[in-house]
Amino acid sequence: MLVLEAGPADASPDIENRIEPPAAWPTLLGSEADWDYRSVPQPGLAGRETHEPRGKLPGGTSNLYVLMHIRGHMSDYDGWAEQGCTGWDYRSILPYFQKLEDQEDDTGPWTGKDGPIPLLNAGLHDPNPTSAAFIAACRELGYPATDDFNGPRMEGAGWHHVNIRDGKRWSAREGYLLPALARPNVTLSTSARATRLLFEGSRCVGVEYSQNGALQTARADREVLVCAGAIESPKLLLLSGIGDPNHLIELYIPVVAESPGVGENFHNHILTGLIQATARPVPPGHLNLSEAALFYKSDPAQSGPDIQIAFVHVPFDIIVGQQNPNSVSILPGVVRPTSRGWVRLASNNPLDKPLVNPNYLGTEDDIRRLVDAVKRSRRSSPPARFPEWVTGELLPDQRWRAMPNCENSCGNGRIRITTRPAPARWARTRGPWWPPICACMAWTACGWRTPA
Ligand SMILES: Cc1cc2nc3c(=O)[nH]c(=O)nc-3n(C[C@H](O)[C@H](O)[C@H](O)COP(=O)(O)OP(=O)(O)OC[C@H]3O[C@@H](n4cnc5c(N)ncnc54)[C@H](O)[C@@H]3O)c2cc1C
Repeated sequence: MLVLEAGPADASPDIENRIEPPAAWPTLLGSEADWDYRSVPQPGLAGRETHEPRGKLPGGTSNLYVLMHIRGHMSDYDGWAEQGCTGWDYRSILPYFQKLEDQEDDTGPWTGKDGPIPLLNAGLHDPNPTSAAFIAACRELGYPATDDFNGPRMEGAGWHHVNIRDGKRWSAREGYLLPALARPNVTLSTSARATRLLFEGSRCVGVEYSQNGALQTARADREVLVCAGAIESPKLLLLSGIGDPNHLIELYIPVVAESPGVGENFHNHILTGLIQATARPVPPGHLNLSEAALFYKSDPAQSGPDIQIAFVHVPFDIIVGQQNPNSVSILPGVVRPTSRGWVRLASNNPLDKPLVNPNYLGTEDDIRRLVDAVKRSRRSSPPARFPEWVTGELLPDQRWRAMPNCENSCGNGRIRITTRPAPARWARTRGPWWPPICACMAWTACGWRTPA
């Protein structure tokens, strides 16, 4: 088995030192461990281009992800199966989740116990007192409690399970790749960037890849698996002539298979946030900065929760955070967006980055649900609900309310917080319009650095 990885075998010592500590992940965004994609201008975000981080090392994005172990709701998988993806219903994939999990507690009846990926219950590991205060505030507001977001009831406020062992990030590299490399029949080839799949007729027989400035090929006796992530996988298929013929012909790529869906239907969850000032310093955390969350359905008719409000016990914005180190963040996100975008080739040069369009807030439905989630986040965290902690809102705060039609570029030039004439429904509420700083992770565009 030959594993081709575009990233280097080892990151620089400076980066390696930041991969291990679970709280250091924000410092990896935009670093050499990140592919560092940018979206095309997003009409739903007043034309801004978002940062789309992805890991570029053996183990991929699991080197920099936030370590929250969230399987997804069972209806997500059942929905795929109903749409024709046979074998992907929840009952069928549950054994695979169980196989990968090593969960320390018994909060869920279906958890795995002997797998290579550890699951710690953040609530059992000296959690931050502000995380507990957030869960209590949600309970006071009438949201149910849940013991395990991966259990029978995802909905509610509770503790995250996180992929941490002995105080360290435990990624797919630690859990799977490194142990597999001990087998005599597995070879990892790094700094090896797949540029094209090779075909004989309609059968894929190998891969062309670029390594040390030279093009190489590897032939497969049995099969070729493409698992280059949600951006690079469609890019590789398109470069290989699998996709919409109109797009391929435009770029002089010979068509191997007409498959117009390749690169389409791209979507990502969008997240924005509030920062609340605290009366006193928030103690440093021991885990991944986000220990608690609330999942709820924006509409009872939803088959599962479509909104996640993640609590982060540090400020997520570098500008506000530097001036106000004593603060916490409440981050609402639409985890079942209805907006759909695409990934397309910018050129037929495999080394060029593709065009990435998540089409954030491309539907009225996503806007409505995010606006409502911001309001609920505010309700979950005013001083009255966090009596010992929160003193008042720092972001978006009254400043943005007072400027219904302004654009403001913050100091580092990478973050732009924009208010604009709001969609009618939101305008009617006279609230602020504060499109997310970024997508996937709100703080990624601001080069967030925390005191931690
Ligand atoms: C900032 C951030 C935080 C996140 N937090 C969470 C979280 O808390 N919980 C959660 O469940 N999910 C989280 N996610 C999502 C999660 O990390 C991803 O869904 C997951 O890692 C995707 O896995 P993958 O194997 O599909 O792709 P990846 O992990 O991206 O792996 C793809 C691999 O292929 C390599 N590659 C790409 N192109 C080529 C090529 N042409 N040739 C050779 N190699 C190539 C890449 O370098 C990479 O190693 C987060 C994502 C981000 C960006």
